[in-house]
This record gives sequence, structure tokens and C-alpha cells, in this order.
Amino acid sequence: MKLSTLQQTLASLDVRPSKRLGQNFLHDQNLAAWIVSQLELEPADTLVEIGPGLGALTESAINQCRAAILIEKDKRLADYLRTHCASDNVEVVNDDAVDFDTRLLFERAPVKVLGNLPYCITSPILFKFAAEPSPVSRMVFTIQREFAERLTAQPSTKDYGALTVILHRRWRAKYLRTLPPTVFLPQPGVDSAVISLVPRAPDELPECDGAVFERLVKAGFSQRRKQLRKLLPPFDWPAFAARCGLPETARAEELSPLQWIELANIVQPCDGAAAAQNVHGERFDVVDGRDRVVGNATRHEVHTGRLLHRAVHIFVFNRAGDLFLQKRSRWKDAHPSKWDSSAAGHVDSGREYDETAVRELREELGVEANVTLLAAIPASGRTGHEFVRLYKAGSEGPFVLARSEIECGAFFPVPIIRRWIQNRPQDFATGFVECFQRAYG
Ligand code: SAM
Repeated sequence: MKLSTLQQTLASLDVRPSKRLGQNFLHDQNLAAWIVSQLELEPADTLVEIGPGLGALTESAINQCRAAILIEKDKRLADYLRTHCASDNVEVVNDDAVDFDTRLLFERAPVKVLGNLPYCITSPILFKFAAEPSPVSRMVFTIQREFAERLTAQPSTKDYGALTVILHRRWRAKYLRTLPPTVFLPQPGVDSAVISLVPRAPDELPECDGAVFERLVKAGFSQRRKQLRKLLPPFDWPAFAARCGLPETARAEELSPLQWIELANIVQPCDGAAAAQNVHGERFDVVDGRDRVVGNATRHEVHTGRLLHRAVHIFVFNRAGDLFLQKRSRWKDAHPSKWDSSAAGHVDSGREYDETAVRELREELGVEANVTLLAAIPASGRTGHEFVRLYKAGSEGPFVLARSEIECGAFFPVPIIRRWIQNRPQDFATGFVECFQRAYG
């Protein structure tokens, strides 16, 4: 939108830009087109735009994707967008984007997020959409320049801090361009910058326990001028420093995200690949078509020979009735990186279903809870030739996830899961879909 048109439109809507809502409207059309181009929209994408205002970015963006969700807090602007960007595949949400439930987006993947953000909500928006698990495949934001420099900083610079390291474990953050105040109406008091955030490929950096990682990073940066060895729990720091080529006097800001991950793996080892290899020798009972034990075989034999065997799935609900789903580890031999029941596992040879359900809850989620049988599901190709007993249990979490088995997890409302399965069945382990359909029809 040209500056003169922008001024006229604001006047006709009787909108005086609000400082509280960070209303600085972009009036440089070439720049708007360039910002949208950085999102690399594809026809299959769902666009989420935060604070679309009068649609400076919106109009070109919505023509390049399958669907769009525009979240605008100012009702007058939301109403304006409803009339000017109306179409079957554009949804205008008149709400605070900080309260937006990102779990609604999994069923709409691939999702890309765009926004010339009000400075005051940059941090909560960024961490809401970047938080694990995230359905987002790319984000482009215009934010305050100073904050952009912190988010994209390199080790051994003054801007590199705990925030940078924590973000960079899962995301690649890139500083794209500085914007002067003159491209906005009214002009903000400081420069802005455009950044992009792209999730790292699963094998780009080693896995580690995220909670341990964040604890160490925060401890390390709590006194950034202090030597790291004095801030961390005791371990063989000289050996670690030598291996990483760091001086023994290194401070937090000298470690790259990879070195922080290596440090977390020393404090709490997490080797999913090795753990996945270890399961091949496990033995399971082999059963006939009526679930009667007829022998036993190794995991490898059972799976390659498609022999009938036994498994349990457990659905863990919180008090709100939401179901906890786990995302299977990338190292799993079956259904890697797919979404699955809260906990699940094979019944070992000589063991029973009920005791296995209790054990799986303990081993996978760190939860001691009673289980109740929900369904007995016959073996089929969809269950991976497993006779499945499905149980339910109650817990609020937080869980101690078995990192060798589980990448991450979250509670989801059942209606969201139902639509997600309908729209993107490829995101789920087939055994879970079978269990969910048994439980919910
Ligand atoms: N995208 C437009 C542009 O580039 O011209 C407007 C950008 S302006 C910097 C920020 C926009 O975010 C405003 O339209 C404002 O009303 C909206 N906004 C402010 N706080 C918000 C919130 N919490 N949730 C959603 N939108 C918000």
C-alpha cells in the first residue's frame, strides 16, 4: 500500500495508530513483496500472518498458498481484512496472537509464519511458534534490530547469549536485512530487521536431552564473564575443553550450539542410535490367530517374518481430557518420526499385557499410574501384525521422556487429533490410528 493510500485508509477507518499495539504500518510495496518472497511460499502451504494490519504483506502472500490464517488483535483492522482479503481459504481471527493455539496447525502442515511484529510481543510469539513440537516449516519476521542481532548472533560476540543458543539447537536463524524507520507509518524510534527461522533437519545436530541442555545453557550464561568450569556441575572439563579446542578458561559465549549439545550429552548421555540398535535381540511371544502363544522369536524375526505377536498402547489423558501424543524418535526401526500413542511397546516373551502397560508408562514417560483396559484389537497389517490391548491412564505430566524412544510430545484435544488424522494420516504410526479409531469410532 502506498503511503498516501495508507493514510487515507487509516483516516476512513478512523484508526489512529496505537503505540500499545505496535501499529507501525509498512508503506514500501517493493519491500513488502521482498519480505513475502523470503517466506518461500509454495502452493500447498498454510500461511499464518501475525498482525496483518491493513494487509501490506497479506495481499501478495495469500495468492501464493493454499490457505491463510490472519491473526489481528485490532477489531477495526480485522473487519477491514475480512472485506478486503475475503475468500474461502482465508480466515481472519480477531484475537491476541499470543493466545493462539498452535496445536490447530499440525493438521494444516506445511505451515509458514509471517509477521511485521509489534515489538512488544516478539518474544512470546517467537517462542510460541518455535516451541517443541512445532508444526512450522519456515518463519519470516520483522522485529526490532537489536533483538534480531541477538537471535542470529555468532559465538564469541556480545549479542550471543542463552536465548541464541537455546533457539539455535532446533532452528537456523538468519539476519536478512535492516529496515530503516522511514519505511513505516508512523516511524518507530529504532531500526527494524527481517529475520528468517528454519527448523534444522533432524540429523543436522546430535540429539540431547533438551531440559538438561537448557539448564546448562542458562547456568553458563547466568554470569557471562565468569569461567564456565566454575558455573557447571563437576565433570572432566579439561578433557572436554581440549577435545573442543577451547581454552580451559572458556566462558559460555565461546561455545557453539554443537558444543553445548556435547556438554549436555556428557552430563546426561543420550544416544538414540545406539539404544535403537540394542533392541534387536529382544524376544517376543509368537501367537496364533486367536492370540494363543505358539512359540517365541527375536524382534527382528517377528518383524521380518510378519509373525503375529503382542503389544500394548496406552492413552494418557490430563484433567482437561486432552490426549498426550508422543513423536517417535528418528532412530526407531518402525515408523520413525511419526506421532503415536502416549506410550506403546511389545509384550516381552513370558510377560502379560497388563504388566507391560504399567512398565511402558514408567519406562517411556516416567509415570507410575494405574491403567484401565479400553479395547482389545485383533492383529492386522494396520497394527503391524500385533494383537493390541489399548489402555488409558490419567496424568498431568510433565513427563520424563525416554529420549531413545521419543523425540518430543504434547497433550492435544481429541477433536484436533481426529481432524489431524483425517487430513494428514501420513503423520501417524498406523497402529495409533487403529487404536484411536477403536476408541473414538
Ligand atoms: N503487517 C502490517 C504491516 O506490515 O503494515 C502491520 C504491522 S504492525 C507493526 C503490527 C500489527 O499487529 C498491527 O496491525 C497491530 O494491530 C497488530 N497487533 C498488535 N498486537 C497484536 C497481538 N497481540 N496479536 C495480533 N495482532 C496484534
